[in-house]
Amino acid sequence: MDKQSTCPECEGSRVYSHGGISAGGGYAPNYLPGLGTFWSAAKFTVRVCADCGLTRFYASPEARAKVRESKDWRRS
Ligand SMILES: [Zn+2]
Repeated sequence: MDKQSTCPECEGSRVYSHGGISAGGGYAPNYLPGLGTFWSAAKFTVRVCADCGLTRFYASPEARAKVRESKDWRRS
């Protein structure tokens, strides 16, 4: 995740990332239900391609550690 990557849509190299973005909850939709803690929602790292605008959301390592055991999620 830390190394530079190319965009899977346009193969551009200007991809920017921002970590620690809340997955919501409270008055906003919660996009990662059951994967946060009692006190805070799970977090995303968001990556945006500066060339085509493709935006990708990656669940944090803490959220990914919970998803396999969560009853809110099923494998598809
Ligand atoms: Zn792109």
